[in-house]
Amino acid sequence: MKSNYLFKICNKSIRNFSSVSKATKPITPNFTTKVQVAEHKLKDFGSWINESLIPESIKELEERIELNEEEEYIEEKDLTKRKNNRRDLTKLGAPNFWDFVEKKNVSLTRKPVEIFQMNIGLYCNQSCNHCHVESSPKRKEEMSLDVINRCLELIEQGKDTITTIDITGGAPELMTHFRYLVESVRKMSDKFEIIDRCNLTVISEPGQDDLVDFLKKHKVTVVASLPCYSRKNVNLQRGKGVFEKSIYGLLKLNAAGFGIEGSDQKLHLVYNPIGPFLPPEQKALQEQYKIQLKEDFEVQFNNLFTITNMPIKRFADFIHRRGDLVPYMELLVNNFNPAAVDGLMCRNTLSIKWDGTLYDCDFNQQLDLGFYNNPNKSIFNIKSIKEITDIPINTEAHCFGCTAGAGSSCQGATI
Ligand code: SF4
Ligand code: SF4
Repeated sequence: MKSNYLFKICNKSIRNFSSVSKATKPITPNFTTKVQVAEHKLKDFGSWINESLIPESIKELEERIELNEEEEYIEEKDLTKRKNNRRDLTKLGAPNFWDFVEKKNVSLTRKPVEIFQMNIGLYCNQSCNHCHVESSPKRKEEMSLDVINRCLELIEQGKDTITTIDITGGAPELMTHFRYLVESVRKMSDKFEIIDRCNLTVISEPGQDDLVDFLKKHKVTVVASLPCYSRKNVNLQRGKGVFEKSIYGLLKLNAAGFGIEGSDQKLHLVYNPIGPFLPPEQKALQEQYKIQLKEDFEVQFNNLFTITNMPIKRFADFIHRRGDLVPYMELLVNNFNPAAVDGLMCRNTLSIKWDGTLYDCDFNQQLDLGFYNNPNKSIFNIKSIKEITDIPINTEAHCFGCTAGAGSSCQGATI
């Protein structure tokens, strides 16, 4: 039933799309975020702020499993057939993304690598219910020194095109070789932008007291998740106590110069919707964030990146349980915007898994969707990153998450 329903809507959207694409303005989704004004101000933080979030994250993960489905106990191992089926978006009747793009005469091939994105492990002190990598304190996978050293060789060889080393996880700062990686890249060149995708709460984890100083010393750009300026919304999506710890982390970063106007230390925030809807307009939301965070907490930052939730992994399960997976796919397909294709991050990003396998992007990595016609490419069987220029991008139905409305990437909206 659901499958037919979506198929009809998708066909309808394709017909509708041709008329919309002639319009001068891109498709604007009629979905706004119901963000609430922060309800309380934090004047000071008790000593609890430096206690680990890990016990609470494990408790919440286990409560969610108990309430929702036993299957999540095996999320780190092989998934059950039922779960795989449920997550298969093509089975819902979603159209073929590649065909959809080709019909609009837009290119889906890779350009030279500019962003070298390393997912260095899946361990995290949080266990957010939208997490597309299904991280939690229970995950153990992390990048070995061999993999990191081979990545460093590839970066050195690819210096002419690579501009950015984007380090993600999990909570990358909690991985054994995070600091070695940052130090080595910075030693190689002052020109690289090194990005630490930080969940903010890691700053107050025991043993991380010097993290902010370390990031400052190595001129790292911090890109931090904060899906709302409201305590209620953040804690709902990311776990109890996360909002307070996030504000604490932001204040510590600000105190070191990150995000302060005129400072070289960049601090960007990431917004993603708390439910199955598209992000609001990036610039307008950024203004709202700036006003609220300054007014309520004296917090400053540089830019806000709006990111669309991908219908995969934990977020797909989360909305499936609420009966929203099919309507969400409809929303993504119906808001397909060809203008968002050129800025897709898979066109200039190389995504490296903790074990060295290569992917077009972090989402494909989490789905284990390797390169088109060559799924086993790894840092150990390529001579240089130039080998992976001009090849087609491997896409599936989840890719509609990157082309809906204003587009979505790790750097925010794509148009
Ligand atoms: S979304 Fe980020 S902070 Fe939350 S569990 Fe996943 S990796 Fe950790
Ligand atoms: S999910 Fe990945 S491969 Fe698909 S469009 Fe987005 S960035 Fe590209």
